[in-house]
Amino acid sequence: MTTAVLSRAADLIERENHYGAHNYKPLDVVLTRGEGVHVWDVDGKRYLDCLSAYSAVNQGHCHPRIIGALTEQAQRLTLTSRAFRNDQLPAFLEELCTLTNSHMALPMNSGAEAVESALKTVRKWGYEVKGVPADRAEIIVCSENFHGRTLAIVGFSSDDQTRAGFGPFTPGFRMVPYGDVAAFEAAITPNTVGFLVEPIQGEAGVVIPPAGYFTRVRELCTAHNVVLILDEIQTGFGRTGKLLAEEHEGIEADLTLVGKALAGGVYPVSAVLSNAQVLGVLKPGDHGSTFGGNPLACAVARMALKVLVDEGMVENSAVMGARLKATLASIRHPAVKEVRGRGLMLAVELHPQAGGARPVVEALAARGLLAKDTHDHTIRISPPLVLTAGEADWIAEQVQAALPPT
Ligand SMILES: *Cc1c(COP(=O)(O)O)cnc(C)c1O
Repeated sequence: MTTAVLSRAADLIERENHYGAHNYKPLDVVLTRGEGVHVWDVDGKRYLDCLSAYSAVNQGHCHPRIIGALTEQAQRLTLTSRAFRNDQLPAFLEELCTLTNSHMALPMNSGAEAVESALKTVRKWGYEVKGVPADRAEIIVCSENFHGRTLAIVGFSSDDQTRAGFGPFTPGFRMVPYGDVAAFEAAITPNTVGFLVEPIQGEAGVVIPPAGYFTRVRELCTAHNVVLILDEIQTGFGRTGKLLAEEHEGIEADLTLVGKALAGGVYPVSAVLSNAQVLGVLKPGDHGSTFGGNPLACAVARMALKVLVDEGMVENSAVMGARLKATLASIRHPAVKEVRGRGLMLAVELHPQAGGARPVVEALAARGLLAKDTHDHTIRISPPLVLTAGEADWIAEQVQAALPPT
């Protein structure tokens, strides 16, 4: 009689599959430790993390200064609720607004909550300031968008799996193709209160709109009194080689949504950044969150922003991103259709006949590089922004070696 002895990793995977909801299909890599650009699995194998938790870990895993701020604040005060004030929130708000040139910020927790908060706020702004008749506000969104997983948000997704089985959905949204100015202009009505859009569509596979798109979008929003809401939850805080991706376009949003790297992947912190007029419509009792703006979140986020600036991570993203993109683009391989992206938000798209991105991602994992396949044929490469030149070159070598044999 044989007794099956599971490896530690296999045992953990089995227990997770048994007790957990199956709403993800992760690579079977069980991680236990992280430092900088690297993570280690339970068998001690080291990987270079080229997903960075969907760009939440821009500052690198377990950045010592951020962990220091976390442990110090955790021993002082963690949660007061907004029924009382705390001594970390004012500094957090001031530092965040100063860094991002905003007048006001609303602190929340997850990215989806920041999106929901912005949608509520622009509706209220539409009724109180723009003068839209009650319950008639319309918000324009883009096809292939990704803004999170709450009920209102998935209702305006163009992805069938995201929506299927979850209806009925919240009304008041109109969808236009991403990157199409004429379609956006045609969708504007007197009841349009906001346009919610990503500067680069990350989940769609790192899709960059045509040059000049956002300049025209900005002009149209101003001309028609429509609040331009940029979702920078993934593109923000240096990912694209600028602090905010809107800088590539030379525009300023009216509302900017940030999350993910706002707290360096150490704690869930998000925010709606705004000019005073839009967020100014919220009055006491209109909106809230038990954990939003808590002192632990504020202390962690303050340090996450500080290290991003102090340690030149935004500039490093621009330099290393350009280097890695150029090296990836120089790969001569028939499977590669296109290399695209800005800063360290990069993607390698394979030809449809190349056998798909998942086998390449699995081959990369075996070589010690964790990346994510999206939309069947695209591999996303978005390492922490503390990447060195040697590591950038190593990533390109692994990608070349993992491509399917020809
Ligand atoms: C991740 C993401 C969100 C949702 O953030 P959660 O913290 O997962 O709720 C929203 N918008 C964009 C562009 C994102 O990448």
